[in-house]
Amino acid sequence: MTIRPLGLDPSHCLIDAEWRAPLSGTSLPLINPSDGSTLCDIASGAADDIDAAVDAARGAYNGIWGRSTALERGRVLARIGQLVLDHKDELARLEALDVGKPYKQAMADVVALARYMEFYGGAADKLHGETIPYLDGYTVYTLREPHGVTGHIIPWNYPMQIIGRSVGAALAVGNACVLKPAEEACLTALAFAELARRAGLPDGALNVVPGRGAQAGAALSAHGGVDHLSFTGSVGVGKLIQSSAAAHITPVTLELGGKSPQLVFEDADLAAALPFLVNAGIQNAGQTCSASSRILVHESRFEEVTSAMAARFEALVAGLALDDLDLGPLVSQRQKDIVEGFIAQGADLELAATGQIAQNAPSGGAYVAPHLFTCHDPQHSLAQDEIFGPVQVIIPFRDEDHAVEIANGTKYGLVASCWTRDGARQMRMARKLRAGQVFLNNYGAGGGVELPFGGAGMSGHGREKGFEALYGFSTLKTVAAYHG
Ligand code: ADP
Repeated sequence: MTIRPLGLDPSHCLIDAEWRAPLSGTSLPLINPSDGSTLCDIASGAADDIDAAVDAARGAYNGIWGRSTALERGRVLARIGQLVLDHKDELARLEALDVGKPYKQAMADVVALARYMEFYGGAADKLHGETIPYLDGYTVYTLREPHGVTGHIIPWNYPMQIIGRSVGAALAVGNACVLKPAEEACLTALAFAELARRAGLPDGALNVVPGRGAQAGAALSAHGGVDHLSFTGSVGVGKLIQSSAAAHITPVTLELGGKSPQLVFEDADLAAALPFLVNAGIQNAGQTCSASSRILVHESRFEEVTSAMAARFEALVAGLALDDLDLGPLVSQRQKDIVEGFIAQGADLELAATGQIAQNAPSGGAYVAPHLFTCHDPQHSLAQDEIFGPVQVIIPFRDEDHAVEIANGTKYGLVASCWTRDGARQMRMARKLRAGQVFLNNYGAGGGVELPFGGAGMSGHGREKGFEALYGFSTLKTVAAYHG
């Protein structure tokens, strides 16, 4: 089977509104993680293609796109959002096949992508500067301006959501974009770019170059013609990108994952918490930056929470993405090997429960059954390292201070949640937890596009999503006029 997203040749790059073979002429196989088959070949873009894409983006920025009004940009984003919804079934199917995520989860990503276009389309003409009271004889004001050409290096776990939040916000401000999707999953990036073209996005305002990270990704992050970079992915690659961007002092937004805790206090409503405790760990088979991989429980309820979660875990089933079970496969055999390595490191912990793999799951698929461990050592690797698979640890705590010490005791700080009926404790926790987002008596708040998102420490820096992202994708100019 060769997949043709929206009828396109998937081995092409989009440069200056034209689908072209990569200049190198080489390609990479794209693997269906549900069964190990090859879906199609994709472009293996390299430095020459990135140069052409950056030139095209610069041309758009210096041309029609750069002169567009905020209203025009808002309208084109809204049209893209509508085309995304018009093609939602095809997009969800492409994402399920490519990433391995269950169809319903892929559909939720399509809806989120459309929502980002609506949100940033609506926000485009609401970003403005300020006037500043100053010395007698001066009028001072600020202008919010685009950076120019923005580079977007995105991962394979949520391609559509991450395109929506980064490319959507960048285009709303008036930047021209070069997008480098992940080599493991890039079909919806290609389809999105085609829909943007059909929606009337001017030539060169969005260019897409698939390829290996070490080639296309490295060329984009080192490119002197790029004025801002946003990256979502691993800590290791984030460090490489930040250091190569340093050569040109290119500003960088990094979102690098986490080890996000949910804190369950003695007064928690366990019936309300339970679905969130489990789902936040196994959604997208745990391959989520904001996955909740640590469940911290007051010692008085440790046994109760463990047995309630274990009962849920035992009923979880991983299978073919299009069968739409609790979990699909992991994205690749490589990812499966990494996760199985972590599970092996859990041999000295107590295994509270495992889920199942469906009987019809093909042997060539990258399936890993969900694993739930209890852990009394917060320094254990399973309690410290981002696993990026369906593995959760439950850790007991004595009191509030101890809970905060464990929660904040990793190198990450992306998301945290707290389950308690005590309003004063909710307020204390919201202040004390080291995280870019804190949820009280929920986890994720439905993933709203309106909610600024980003991390502290090794989770990265800068904020995406919400109106806040528009500040990151723009730069501020101060104008001081002396008129006497
Ligand atoms: P993961 O470990 O989750 O696969 P990565 O951080 O390796 O995530 O990849 C995220 C994105 O970064 C992908 O688009 C990948 O191609 C890209 N990438 C990987 N290595 C590099 C690199 N050296 N320079 C720039 N981009 C890279």
